[in-house]
Amino acid sequence: MSQIAENLEKVQAQIAAALQKCGRKESEVELIAVSKTCAPEMVREAQEAGAEVFGESRVQEAKAKIGLLPNRIRWQFIGHLQKNKIRASLPLFELFHSMDSLALAQDMNRIAQEEGLHPRVLLEVNLAGEASKWGFSPSLLESQMEQLLQLERLQIQGLMVIPPIQENAEASRAYFVQLRELRDQLEQTANIGLPELSMGMSHDYPIAIEEGATLVRVGTAIFGSRVGKKWSPN
Ligand SMILES: *Cc1c(COP(=O)(O)O)cnc(C)c1O
Repeated sequence: MSQIAENLEKVQAQIAAALQKCGRKESEVELIAVSKTCAPEMVREAQEAGAEVFGESRVQEAKAKIGLLPNRIRWQFIGHLQKNKIRASLPLFELFHSMDSLALAQDMNRIAQEEGLHPRVLLEVNLAGEASKWGFSPSLLESQMEQLLQLERLQIQGLMVIPPIQENAEASRAYFVQLRELRDQLEQTANIGLPELSMGMSHDYPIAIEEGATLVRVGTAIFGSRVGKKWSPN
């Protein structure tokens, strides 16, 4: 068995164990294999080993990679989307995890209208107020939710967080709880459904699952370290 196949099997087993621990069903969590910086052959290896959905964070890299791989692979966008890349990104991805400002949402709404599309998006929340990270602060999200919901072309389906990086994975738990509670509150005040919670990465996805994650974004634990790794066409 290849290293990637072996890693994938381990991750799937840990997901199953975390689900069992908290009494959730297997169908409630989807694994996004984060393939940014990975060559297409690595994606193919993971796909042949059973991964179905892949996450990318750069539109140009993803576009080139997607063109080299089978059509049945599903792709989701997890990075910061630049405005001038919206149009190119829309046909590539089935879900955008990282809608991080009202201005970007308005631009995507307009372009989706022009293209006749209804993109599915998650709203990225910057829970720790980190200057280095994108996303809505909880208070900004609460105050802009009504405007976001008026963007008819966007299907807003949930929230996403990237907690501050910490040595101890348990330290992420408080952020996962906070994201779930913010979601519950927004559902109540706006009277909408926000079923998706995109949270958990290689070092903390079992904890995210215990706290209600529906999408976990796992790169390193499947593909190995990204240090010094880079892929571009030609
Ligand atoms: C790179 C990345 C991941 C994957 O991180 P790993 O620690 O390698 O699992 C998950 N989410 C986002 C938004 C990322 O940019």
